Amino acid sequence: MNNISLSKSTFIRGLQCEKSLYLYKNFYHLKDPVDPQTQAIFDQGHEVGILAQKLFPDGVDVSPESYYNMGESVIKTKSLIESGESVIYEATFEFNGVIAALDILVKDNEGWKAYEVKSSTSVSETYLNDAAIQYYTIINSGVELKDISIVHINNQYVKNGAIKVHELFTIAPVYDEVQLLLPDISHKIEQFKSIIGNDSVPKIEIGEHCSKPYGCDFRGHCWKHIPDYSIFDISNLRMNKKFDLYNNGIVTLDQVDVENNALNSNHLLQVKSELTQSSYIDYENISQFLSDLKYPLYFLDFETIGTAIPIYDGSRPYQQLPFQFSLHVQQEKNGTLTHYEYLAKSSIKKDPRIDFVKRLVKDCGDSGDIIVYNIGFEKGKLNDLKALYPKFADDIGNIINRLKDLMVPFKNKWYYTPEMKGSYSIKSVLPALVPELSYQDLEIKEGGTASNLFLQMVKGEFNGDIDKTKKDLLEYCKLDTYAMVRILEVLYMS
Ligand code: SF4
Repeated sequence: MNNISLSKSTFIRGLQCEKSLYLYKNFYHLKDPVDPQTQAIFDQGHEVGILAQKLFPDGVDVSPESYYNMGESVIKTKSLIESGESVIYEATFEFNGVIAALDILVKDNEGWKAYEVKSSTSVSETYLNDAAIQYYTIINSGVELKDISIVHINNQYVKNGAIKVHELFTIAPVYDEVQLLLPDISHKIEQFKSIIGNDSVPKIEIGEHCSKPYGCDFRGHCWKHIPDYSIFDISNLRMNKKFDLYNNGIVTLDQVDVENNALNSNHLLQVKSELTQSSYIDYENISQFLSDLKYPLYFLDFETIGTAIPIYDGSRPYQQLPFQFSLHVQQEKNGTLTHYEYLAKSSIKKDPRIDFVKRLVKDCGDSGDIIVYNIGFEKGKLNDLKALYPKFADDIGNIINRLKDLMVPFKNKWYYTPEMKGSYSIKSVLPALVPELSYQDLEIKEGGTASNLFLQMVKGEFNGDIDKTKKDLLEYCKLDTYAMVRILEVLYMS
């Protein structure tokens, strides 16, 4: 193991950015900490990998205790191959300073075949490169591969009873694509080894590669010269245009030439608002938006969970399933509020959706606009529920027809203040318009955390205080709808 320079993941890292590879190998401590959302994605990937082993059951797992024991996995893999084993999980190979663990290695009557499992729903260019370094390491270790495939999630699969792994997973052979990439692999390996051994950090500026194909985990280090609010926060401006500005020495909004640049009127509104610290209000459009509202108003927000491996019958991989809503009802302008809420039982056996629908239909009444923030999300989930529960199709259709989007005035910048810093998310609009209300005072501050916590409870993996966390979930969702009430009040006052 002493001469190991690269793993499969560091090779892929090097393809994205050589500086990232260098920092990872030489200045690991500069790496950003893994946040809970990213950790949840890693954990899900592990779960998918374990399930995919059922495609080729009864194999021998040679996973090491830790990365530092991968050498033992190499020895075990070699010995299992020599002893005639036909299915090996985490089969590990080492060649030319590269160590690579393959999810599933199988020998059938045609010979050895390699399967690399991914929890996404299609084959990407990165996965092909991943397969190519894998293939290179395996064949040069003396194992002739007849085929190599990416195993990914089939997003059209609908769970019905126990998970059918042969339907949940799609096996995509990538042998031909790998052959095209192979000639370049050893050159790249030498190049990356040489970079790792250099005395100085590669001179690579920040660029679009910092987020493609993955968000780089050295952003905290490389982007530290970019202020909290910069040209990278100009809303709806394409990334290549942002880097055009950056590469011309423009970082902060006060450096933007408002007379002579490629920004559209919407971008310039944001820039000018910052420079003059003044708000912009399009009274005509806001007045039209407000006069179109039909009382009583129902302010509605959902929370959802979605998993690669579907939990409940009648659901697809990654389908977002509503488990909670908050609803504030106001009979007339500035009238008193009535609050309704629903939070499903956190049970792996009980699909949260049916009780969610029953309660939502009951609490939403028959008439009056239903105000949401970002209509596409709620409408999409309601359409899913309509298709799933034909008995409630008319009621859900009625709810869909009554939806109105409070995000519209902010997305269109009919109402814009410098405090929004280019964002029209409710998390930015609320403190700008109603500074006394804040998500920061809550235990749960954003939807991703709410979703992760509920999912942990469903799976029985939650270690905290369940009653308190359920209260926190209710408080969080309640603030989302109360925030809309207060934001609308401000629009009325404008
Ligand atoms: S943040 Fe960007 S420049 Fe820095 S290492 Fe990552 S990809 Fe490279």
